[in-house]
Amino acid sequence: MQKLLMPFVKQMMLCGYKSAEYKKHWGYPHYGVDISTIQGQGGEDPTVYASGNGIVLLAGWDEKLGGALCVFYPEAYNHETGKYTDVVARYMHLASVAVKTGSAVRPGEVLGIEGKEGTGDYHLHLEFDTDIKYPAYSPQVAESSFWKKGTDSTVNPSYLLHIGEDQEIVPPTYNPAWLNAEDMAIPIIKAEPDYRSLYLTAKQKLDKIAEILKEG
Ligand SMILES: [Zn+2]
Repeated sequence: MQKLLMPFVKQMMLCGYKSAEYKKHWGYPHYGVDISTIQGQGGEDPTVYASGNGIVLLAGWDEKLGGALCVFYPEAYNHETGKYTDVVARYMHLASVAVKTGSAVRPGEVLGIEGKEGTGDYHLHLEFDTDIKYPAYSPQVAESSFWKKGTDSTVNPSYLLHIGEDQEIVPPTYNPAWLNAEDMAIPIIKAEPDYRSLYLTAKQKLDKIAEILKEG
């Protein structure tokens, strides 16, 4: 059993799950949350960190949406229902992916770098799905090289996410109308005992990732 953490150290919520504004604007629902290190302009740490203990089911690159990851997080706590559920997390738009298919990850481990591949500005699209048998099948996307068109068995990420030690969500200034109440009410938790040490290790890996990015 585990409580999942936010993906960045310091971040802003940009768009909520099944946001009414999103649907009004795009004409279809939003099956995840959009989270940004303040649109990549705040000089913040752009590293995407693992939310919990998990397994990378698929890691790769989508021709349209960039760096792509499916991470299985077992027994994740839903603070809305009070129940635990197995989920697969789908990460989209990454500039770089730092893990491989089959890797085990721990809270705070480096997954990749925030990007804007296939979208207008820097953000992470994060989706949680209870159907873990088809990790790359997302209701959000059209058929593509990595992602496949799936049916909806998603769950609201803001009900599964928590603010860990050393993490912060800054107030939304981008367009708060695109958020739901629960996106502004993500609970703070005491971190896992070993989270801080893992996180510091992860931070030290930043230089290496910058190097990888430079090499393309
Ligand atoms: Zn999104």
